[in-house]
Amino acid sequence: MERLYLIREIRKPEKPVLAIDIGGTKISMAILSREGEALTGLTMPTEAGQGPEAVIERLLDGIDHLLSGNGLLPSNLAAVGLAAAGVIDIKNGLVTTSPNLPGWRDVPLKSLISQRYRLPTFLINDADAAALGEHRFGAGRGLNTLVLLTVGTGIGGGIIIDGELYFGSRASAAEIGHMVIDVNGPKCACGNSGCLEALASGTAVAREARGRLMRGALSSLVEMAGGPLENITAELVHRAAREGDILANEVIAQAAFYLGIGVSNVVNIFNPEAVIIGGSLSAMGDLLLQPVREIVKDRALPLLARTVRILPARLGNDAGLFGAAIYALEH
Ligand SMILES: [Zn+2]
Repeated sequence: MERLYLIREIRKPEKPVLAIDIGGTKISMAILSREGEALTGLTMPTEAGQGPEAVIERLLDGIDHLLSGNGLLPSNLAAVGLAAAGVIDIKNGLVTTSPNLPGWRDVPLKSLISQRYRLPTFLINDADAAALGEHRFGAGRGLNTLVLLTVGTGIGGGIIIDGELYFGSRASAAEIGHMVIDVNGPKCACGNSGCLEALASGTAVAREARGRLMRGALSSLVEMAGGPLENITAELVHRAAREGDILANEVIAQAAFYLGIGVSNVVNIFNPEAVIIGGSLSAMGDLLLQPVREIVKDRALPLLARTVRILPARLGNDAGLFGAAIYALEH
């Protein structure tokens, strides 16, 4: 029944929309009906290290393959909704920079797609798209104001105010991962130090575990990694923690602490009804979220802390695709 939302809200032609989510490791695309049903889709590796030209060439091949494989012409679609991991100039449809897509600088992704397929095309940041997806179809349905954090390799953010995405003046708002939490903290991919992303992302969790092991701490992680410490990932730390490994639990508790501080700041600034935690680390569930809830209760202003809910995202990896489609259909 929740799918009816789109039908009511979007009084556009009956055609489906092509949604594409370009991340640092994979590209997902799907053709979605106006009711939010995925009619067909495909996922492929981004191979971001090959640079923008190669990635875009493969992206276009993927779109052609998806359309022809389903007997569709571009004219059978209403629009294209793109989400990309990077700082997006929403007005001009550019991926201006991206820590996860090396070499991308002012790439005119929107016009490349719109000119090739002659379709209305929209480009937004992937975490913004995920926030929109979770608001319309996921953990944030029915709320007015929410903030979403995607905690994975990095930390992205999306802000919904009065039911709409908040972009800021140049569409660069919600870079919550680059909120400074510890002025003396570790170096961040953005060049600054002590950002939330440098303290509580999956990359930070893996780095902290490796650092403790190199300083001589004992852990089942060494055996689980089965070789060099570089094999240690946040996912492996999570597995070790579930099996009772003390070091792994301490590392996750530390990341949760910093995440809780970041979320407390977000709560104080936006007074949201909910803060939704998505991204690969949200698979840790209450191991990550329960400490965050307790820190928010301790650290955010009491009136704001009392009313906010800290929720896991519901749409998983599909949130960005849904959000990209919704944004295209609503605009
Ligand atoms: Zn940063």
